[in-house]
Amino acid sequence: VSGGWDEHGWSTLGPGVARRTLPGVDVTVGVVAGAERLLVVDTGGTLAQGEAVAGSLPRAATDVVITHAHWDHCFGTPAFAGARVVGHRGLPRALDPAELAADAGRYGVAAVEARAAARALVAPEVLVDDVLTLDLGGLVARVVHPGPAHTACDLAVVVRAERTVVFCGDLVEESGPPQAGPDAVPAGWPAALDRLLAEGGEDALYVPGHGAVVDARFVRAQRDALAARFGVS
Ligand SMILES: [Zn+2]
Repeated sequence: VSGGWDEHGWSTLGPGVARRTLPGVDVTVGVVAGAERLLVVDTGGTLAQGEAVAGSLPRAATDVVITHAHWDHCFGTPAFAGARVVGHRGLPRALDPAELAADAGRYGVAAVEARAAARALVAPEVLVDDVLTLDLGGLVARVVHPGPAHTACDLAVVVRAERTVVFCGDLVEESGPPQAGPDAVPAGWPAALDRLLAEGGEDALYVPGHGAVVDARFVRAQRDALAARFGVS
């Protein structure tokens, strides 16, 4: 990855792998740029954020993975016209435009922007039940459903680069305790984090949905904290 990425706010995590956070709720987006295809992980919380992400890429995205049906992760998707949009099997049903727009409003997105994004909402065309492998040319992205946790439709993206990188969606949060709303499945959360730890291993870089990159130890501690918080093991 050339230095040009950094000028656009990306932090590189390995050759062809980078992340950045976006203003507002500090949501993370990721990129995995293979020789042939370019994958974006999550798209931001407004149409404008999606456009900013798309505009900061060295070439057009061919694939987009939506980690779950929350506005801050999916409202930017229309900016990636032409890309294949990948989501969990249950995602199309979980994407409720009115609910997402209301949520965005609660977090400070202007009503007009939230409504525009909700109207333009993009449903995934490639649906994942358990695992989908995307060969990007020299880099392979493993799209994994670690089980219902933060939502019923969570996906993570595992990339074996110089160091393995795991894009965790909101299964892991660094900037505060993980948010568990009415659509969370707390009983499944610790097991889902066990699966992510098994996928990534001890030396992986774990990229949370919000906040700074963490390590396996942090994920394990968060797993234990969630198990205690929800009374599951
Ligand atoms: Zn979320």
